[in-house]
Amino acid sequence: MVGQRVRTRFAPSPTGYLHVGGLRTALYNYLFAKKMGGDFIIRIEDTDQSRKVEDAQKNLIKTLEWAGIVADESPEHGGNYGPYVQSERLDIYDKYCKQLLIDNHAYYCFATHEELEENRQLQIKQGLQPKYNRKWLPEEMGGSMPASVIKKKFDEGGPFVIRMKVPDYVSVWFEDIIRGPVEFDSATIDDQVLMKSDGFPTYHFASVIDDHFMEFTHIIRGEEWLSSMPKHLLLYEFFGWEPPKVAHLPLLLNPDRSKLSKRQGDVAVEDYIRKGYSNDAIINFVAMLGWNEGEGSEQEVYSMEQLIEKFSLERVGKAGAVFNIEKLNWLEKQYIKNRPSEKLVSVIKPILLAELEQKNSLMPLEVITSDCYLEKVVELMRERVGFEHEFVTFSSYFYFEPESYDQEAIKKRWTPDTQKLLQEFLIILQSLDVFSAERIEAELKEFVAPKGLKAAVLIHPLRILTSGVSFGPSLYHMLEVLGKETVIRRIKGGNEKVSFPV
Ligand code: GLU
Repeated sequence: MVGQRVRTRFAPSPTGYLHVGGLRTALYNYLFAKKMGGDFIIRIEDTDQSRKVEDAQKNLIKTLEWAGIVADESPEHGGNYGPYVQSERLDIYDKYCKQLLIDNHAYYCFATHEELEENRQLQIKQGLQPKYNRKWLPEEMGGSMPASVIKKKFDEGGPFVIRMKVPDYVSVWFEDIIRGPVEFDSATIDDQVLMKSDGFPTYHFASVIDDHFMEFTHIIRGEEWLSSMPKHLLLYEFFGWEPPKVAHLPLLLNPDRSKLSKRQGDVAVEDYIRKGYSNDAIINFVAMLGWNEGEGSEQEVYSMEQLIEKFSLERVGKAGAVFNIEKLNWLEKQYIKNRPSEKLVSVIKPILLAELEQKNSLMPLEVITSDCYLEKVVELMRERVGFEHEFVTFSSYFYFEPESYDQEAIKKRWTPDTQKLLQEFLIILQSLDVFSAERIEAELKEFVAPKGLKAAVLIHPLRILTSGVSFGPSLYHMLEVLGKETVIRRIKGGNEKVSFPV
């Protein structure tokens, strides 16, 4: 393995959506491979045909690519080590299973489900860890089943599985890159089924065969697979193959430190995409679920390039990583704050165009859909939105007339003089030749000062009439962006529509 080009893989089962834990596994495999100048591969593990979901493979790969994780080899893009879907590799598993049978490392087992379950219950009752009782282990392999009975059953065509024979009294030891040395006693290892009665291999068997023939140098996967390692290592030993290096990633936890579950929030990456999170923020967030750069680093915002440069498996922790949605929200805001406005405009324009197909705007379309107008909206709002789509949804007054007015704010802000003041100030606004924030501000202050009033008597009503809401960016800048015509129309229209508590 020394000097070999690094090859890592993400090996999802096509059973549904991409879980955030799966995204993290894929990301760490990708970051490590790219950091080492190697290759990242996607292999689809569909040996459990009953759980296979139509289109899941395509969606998994599409979601990974959305996140910026593009495989060097995959079922969709091919490569020199294919096929990359396990159900297309059945002849390979068959061949190597036959070899194990010949070498007495595997045996046929004709036990029925009922028998296995009975045996399991009995062992549980006896306080033992449930394990196959080796009823069908042949005499010549140290068991008690005569070859003639096995042959008879086989000839009758009885359904069977093929199990590996775990050697007695050995201990299996390995070094996990994250966890350090790990040891298992063979007495705790079950005679794992390698081939199922439907002729498909189990995950354990197929993944070992594939990991070997696809020449992976490092296996990086979730902690839940740690206990499978001894079975896998025994298979490597039976075949005389050198096992890859392994790293088992820490569990993902809910904030209450229970295992991350749907019950406490979304776990599908697609749900986060639908909510409007960007790929940059999600990747950054997921990268930090178990990895950090180390002491002395204050950095929290990382681009994919920086992650590739800085990532190392040695800096992945053993302790469970808490999935803190606040952190993701914070990251999303950081990205929006710092993203170039042209990039934001290119994202929000299609969202706005889609809205405009549903809703009428009274503003000139060529203005509100122009890059120049959208850039001004972006600059005013980038500190205030949580998601990119909110430049349209949360800021709809930049494109559409207010549909309602904040009644609570009206009650609070309107005085018996408000209507009159608004009417007078409207005349001043109408007369302005330059409709700039500075000019509006100066005019407003000049208007209220001689009356002994504060600017707030008009600021709040103007904001509510022009936007419908009582919060937002600097009023003067907002009015400038909206433009004179819109501002005047909305003040007049609002005054007519709303019955104020005078
Ligand atoms: N198919 C397994 C899963 O979906 C892959 C485990 C592994 O990486 O070996 O988690």
